Amino acid sequence: MIDSARLNLAEFAPGSVWLVGAGPGDPGLLSALALHALVHADVVVYDALVDPRILALAQSGAALEFAGKRGGRPSPRQPDISARLVHLAQQGQRVLRLKGGDPCVFGRGGEEALALAAASIPFRIVPGITAGIGGLAYAGIPVTHRDIASAVTFVTGHDRGGAVPEAVDWAAIAKASPVIVLYMALPHLERIAARLIAAGRAPDEPVAVISRATTAAQRVVTAPLAEAAARAAAAGIDAPTIVVIGQIVRLRDRLDWLGA
Ligand code: SAH
Repeated sequence: MIDSARLNLAEFAPGSVWLVGAGPGDPGLLSALALHALVHADVVVYDALVDPRILALAQSGAALEFAGKRGGRPSPRQPDISARLVHLAQQGQRVLRLKGGDPCVFGRGGEEALALAAASIPFRIVPGITAGIGGLAYAGIPVTHRDIASAVTFVTGHDRGGAVPEAVDWAAIAKASPVIVLYMALPHLERIAARLIAAGRAPDEPVAVISRATTAAQRVVTAPLAEAAARAAAAGIDAPTIVVIGQIVRLRDRLDWLGA
């Protein structure tokens, strides 16, 4: 499928773990290294956000293990997932840890890598296209743009306990970042918008809420900051969603190549 010699791709050695980003959905956004890993892995330990069409690319003999949240059932604890990766590698398997987007963008890739390093398991990190960049591109929104968007902040709208994260300095972000990209934020969008407006962002600043970005089910709702949460709810937007706040959202009127 891919000429790994010509691309000079690294060998996926038995007993090692590759922490790989699968991108936001569209299988065409996989990297050559991600595809190489899928074709050679003995076991694929995957998260809820990995598109089924991507899993279908694994070699037919590969074991597929689900390690994410599903249907409200409790998700496996992070230490258990890390221990599982270590265990599989110690058995001499080629272990592909496959995550949606980029493994190290709100994906706990760093935590798993630390566990592998502590256990002296050889590992590699293969970056993926994160939803906060790829999803914007598929909505016709450039993540930066000269003059109007020279800094971007990626921020989680959800803390460990599911609340608006208090460790995030929302007022500082409101002042300093012309583009704000929120992950896992839809349930708290109203409160986050209120904090940003209280810190000086214009209530009519444009926002795009992008659901299931880069998949066939992608939907985009645009609205002024003060109304974005209500408009997304009224439109029945589903998770996963990425939210982008900034004047760059206006460019979508001219750049929506997917919907055009
Ligand atoms: N590692 C992932 C992010 C994991 S956190 C990445 O780099 O993209 C999960 C959050 O990512 C979701 O709540 C949502 O905010 C966002 N997300 C992931 N895939 C998405 C998609 N296809 N469309 C919209 N948002 C997505």
